Amino acid sequence: MFTKSDLAKYPFIPEASKFVKDLDIKIDELANPEYRSVLNRAQERIEEAIQDALVSRKLHNYGIEIPSFPIAIMMVVALANSYIKKRYALAEAKGVYHQLEAEDSEKIIEIAKNFDWNIKLIEDGSTGIYDFSLHFTNFLKNGTVFRDEKWKLVNRVMLQGDVFLTKSEASRLLQEEVQRYIEGKLNVKIDFLPPNIMERVEQLKQLLIEKGGKFRSESLPKTVVNAAFPPCIRELYDNIKSGHHLSHIGRFALTSFLINIGMTVETVVDLFRSFSDFDERMTRYQVEHIAGEKGGRTKYIPPRCDTLRTHGVCVSTDNICRRIHHPLAYYRRKLRSVKKVVIKPQKE
Ligand code: SF4
Repeated sequence: MFTKSDLAKYPFIPEASKFVKDLDIKIDELANPEYRSVLNRAQERIEEAIQDALVSRKLHNYGIEIPSFPIAIMMVVALANSYIKKRYALAEAKGVYHQLEAEDSEKIIEIAKNFDWNIKLIEDGSTGIYDFSLHFTNFLKNGTVFRDEKWKLVNRVMLQGDVFLTKSEASRLLQEEVQRYIEGKLNVKIDFLPPNIMERVEQLKQLLIEKGGKFRSESLPKTVVNAAFPPCIRELYDNIKSGHHLSHIGRFALTSFLINIGMTVETVVDLFRSFSDFDERMTRYQVEHIAGEKGGRTKYIPPRCDTLRTHGVCVSTDNICRRIHHPLAYYRRKLRSVKKVVIKPQKE
């Protein structure tokens, strides 16, 4: 029943997996130039997820589109970031939803059966509104995440345990099912990927950092609250104020942290003035670079706690530290409980 174009639209169905299996691509062969287009498209899928939260469908070349899906899955696993896993699964599932909305009803039923849905076509046009009837257990499994009143079971038209659905509603419920399925696929570990794929994974990490920095800045208050600094940053901050030397990673962690919580480049540069070897031009360039105002225009975020621990920057921990993995996550948590104090470093 499914054409190659269908497999490109719905790359999670068993027929698409079989198509890829028959290609017999070996992981260590992925470095070969013949697979460059597939790798490009796989990387593009993830970029679309990061940037637009929606993965498009390129149906004109199914030979690239279909295998690019499992390779994108591998790359997302290699990114080892729970945020991108969720975002990628959502973006792929949204892409599926858009295809399903315009799909033949019979194909929707075939796709739904992959998830053990008890779904039937309403063929006689008796309702005039609805296209499918779905067993209420399948409906509840996928519909409880929606807040809108129309998704409450009490507000649905039902007959003998089946809920009546329009094509759009069935597609939306399937989106949830597909998202969970993809999240499951991402919940594995990969020990080895060829260097050319890891290079792409690193590029995606940079894109994530750039975007992640933006997301994080948006959710933080405009004023800097030093009472919410994590212990590591507090130590670095106190050291710099008293003119003590900081390691390279200490400088980077402090600068990127302060920039990400809203401190201006100017104020951060001023913090370094007490150093005996202070070089304003060089310091300003480095701070602007971390802030994404110079060079590759990437705004950097501080390293994770495990990296800071490895380099001896994690000086002590408290209750919040035990529940987070990143200094910015500490800051966000602590903000909820501290009284806000605006830092004006240049006057201290
Ligand atoms: S656990 Fe993380 S936030 Fe806490 S002090 Fe260590 S590096 Fe900083």
